[in-house]
Amino acid sequence: MIPSVHRPTRAIINLQAIADNVRTIQQHIPRDTKTYAVVKADAYGHGAVKTAHFISRSVDAFAVSNLDEALELRQSGISNDILILGPIAPEDVDLAKESALTVTVSSQNWLELARSQGVDMQGLTVHVKVDSGMGRIGVRSAEEANTLLAELQKSGSRVEGIFTHFATADEADDSKLQQQLAFFKNLLERLDNRPNLIHASNSAASLWHGETIFNAVRLGIAIYGLNPSGTALPLPYPLKPALSLESALIQVKKVEKGADIGYGASYTASAEQYIGTVPIGYADGWTRDLQGFSLLVDGLECEIVGRISMDQLTIRLSEPYPLGTKVTLIGSDGDKEISATDVAHKRDTISYEILCLLSSRIPRLYLGL
Ligand SMILES: *Cc1c(COP(=O)(O)O)cnc(C)c1O
Repeated sequence: MIPSVHRPTRAIINLQAIADNVRTIQQHIPRDTKTYAVVKADAYGHGAVKTAHFISRSVDAFAVSNLDEALELRQSGISNDILILGPIAPEDVDLAKESALTVTVSSQNWLELARSQGVDMQGLTVHVKVDSGMGRIGVRSAEEANTLLAELQKSGSRVEGIFTHFATADEADDSKLQQQLAFFKNLLERLDNRPNLIHASNSAASLWHGETIFNAVRLGIAIYGLNPSGTALPLPYPLKPALSLESALIQVKKVEKGADIGYGASYTASAEQYIGTVPIGYADGWTRDLQGFSLLVDGLECEIVGRISMDQLTIRLSEPYPLGTKVTLIGSDGDKEISATDVAHKRDTISYEILCLLSSRIPRLYLGL
């Protein structure tokens, strides 16, 4: 979808905040730790190319979810290592090699498939994924890991790393995390040949569980300034949210008592009141279940009343603000702040989802660029 730039709705990205968050976290983990900045899903909605270029000298490497995301970064001129966290199709190994991308190999079956397709693994840089209890991708035993590592080496690939991923690093109860960590450590001890890079820590593990840090970390949500746990655990040190979302009033009207607002006439004015219309809707990722949540106008919280439409929503105002008055959906105005975590709480989800769902219709404006 083309960004709608002739509309006052925009996401404002503070790249310096991302760089500052990277540095803050690096100051709290062992100095020789390799930092992977996770910029998958367009850097959680912040713009992968812009984000990666801004922090390329502050981090060692980038991690993305799939081959296309990696190619986008490489083609934009990023020269750092780029790790693709999910398995690629074996027939795309040549593409990965041509762009010097690092791929994840997560099962013996994948290697067998590659072999049956005659894929040339020579010179491919790989990290082996271990499923220590997440249940998604990865080898599930030291035996499988040893076989896979040996066969990868035999195939001529360069096995650079081995890694795992925690399912509950963002929770107060760390019993499952400790089980996964013990499983991974035990597996590492039983390897015939240990790859150089060993990593397990996402943002949450890096913030709250230094004991999970081997010699690299994979930082996602925290570099964008959000608490990986929502509100379950306090941040060990402050981080700055990098994204704010703004729009403006495009219509303000006085409605009479009894007036219906929006699809389904789900809201009826209980008295004479002012209603403002804001050009953002569920096609922008501002989903219908945010009805009843608030936005900031002139430093005041204003409730979203009536259904959220595809392209517009309506709010109740305390006074007839002029057209063009700024509306803050994520960010601060005066001494009030609405965070992506607050939005997530209203929707019973996580801040990650709020950020990733902000659609490409919303232009991204970069502060200081
Ligand atoms: C997305 C992802 C991360 C980053 O997670 P955050 O919680 O955002 O830090 C790290 N590792 C893997 C394997 C991932 O898929």
